Amino acid sequence: MTQSILFKNRPIGKPKLSDFEFIKEDNDFNIKQDELLLETTYVSVDPYLRGRMNDAKSYIPPFELGKPISSGIIAKVMASKDEKFKVGDFVSGRLDWKTRQISKGDGLLKVDEEKAKLSAYLGVLGLTGLTAYLGLNEIGKPKQGETLVVSGAAGAVGSVVGQIGKILGLTVIGIAGTDEKIKMLTSEFGFDHAINYKTTKDMKAAIKTAAPNGVDVYFDNVGGPISDAVLFNINQFARLVICGAISVYNSTEIPHSVSVQPFLIKNSALMQGFIVSNYTEKFPEAINQLARWLQEGKLTYTETIVEGFENIPQAFLDLLEGKKKGKMLVEI
Ligand code: NAP
Repeated sequence: MTQSILFKNRPIGKPKLSDFEFIKEDNDFNIKQDELLLETTYVSVDPYLRGRMNDAKSYIPPFELGKPISSGIIAKVMASKDEKFKVGDFVSGRLDWKTRQISKGDGLLKVDEEKAKLSAYLGVLGLTGLTAYLGLNEIGKPKQGETLVVSGAAGAVGSVVGQIGKILGLTVIGIAGTDEKIKMLTSEFGFDHAINYKTTKDMKAAIKTAAPNGVDVYFDNVGGPISDAVLFNINQFARLVICGAISVYNSTEIPHSVSVQPFLIKNSALMQGFIVSNYTEKFPEAINQLARWLQEGKLTYTETIVEGFENIPQAFLDLLEGKKKGKMLVEI
């Protein structure tokens, strides 16, 4: 039996388990020329999936009701009529939330279990690492000696951004939501300072204390009041990388923030939205560099791995609440 998870309801506000539907089917799986039969090994749950649940224009189409949800998946090739892949290979790509499925090979990448753990190809050596590396370098343009602030710092992207900042010789300040995560940022990931936004009353003052010379690069994963507080501390010619806005993904009203224009004008600062898929031509170079740093022990990563296909929706809901460290994955 093949299990699938379908998108049942468009959530308003926080998604619920009842927005997902499990089905079981008895499939024969006769593959045609150029097709593969895949068995799912790891499923990535990511904040951007929340955006795809809204029926709204974005950089990626919304999920269709009654159809399977899809995300980054590592799968094992069980049968192949595509000469690029053989039985036993592992591949990564955007696939459906199904235990088994037929796929054309397009858009799938072979991943090498010898070089890194399979799960890393959905994290530091996948879109997460690419987002961190390309967002920071292409828009943040970090220079040695500058100060970098990262929000969502204990998350999959943020933890890699901060470590790259340290490799490049910056002072790095991370913002996260539990004392355990704060400790992890300085002791495991080498951040210079970390601020708990849930227990700090005056974020503007806390950032000023941690960054007495001001903020040159802000890597924004969360938006909302945290980002407002950073704005008060930016330097002349600061670069603000707008990568994510997880604090407002479940908002049912248009969120209010401070007016950014005066801060940008008086500091001649740059604020730019970032979408990783706009930089595909730079993916090979970025992955090579990330893999090199990983091999050299300059880069490390943390994962939260939940077990069982039936737990994918709950893992996604927990992710949106920050109930995990580093990259969140489900192992099937
Ligand atoms: P993640 O692993 O879920 O990390 C997000 C972090 O944000 C969590 O560690 C969470 O922990 C924190 N957070 C959650 N709710 C928050 C709130 N209301 N206020 C402040 N912090 C909150 O996600 P990720 O994969 O690293 O992605 C990070 C961001 O980048 C997301 O917004 C995602 O949509 C975006 N992204 C963008 C691209 C792109 O191409 N633009 C690509 C990938 C990801 P704590 O609250 O406990 O600190």
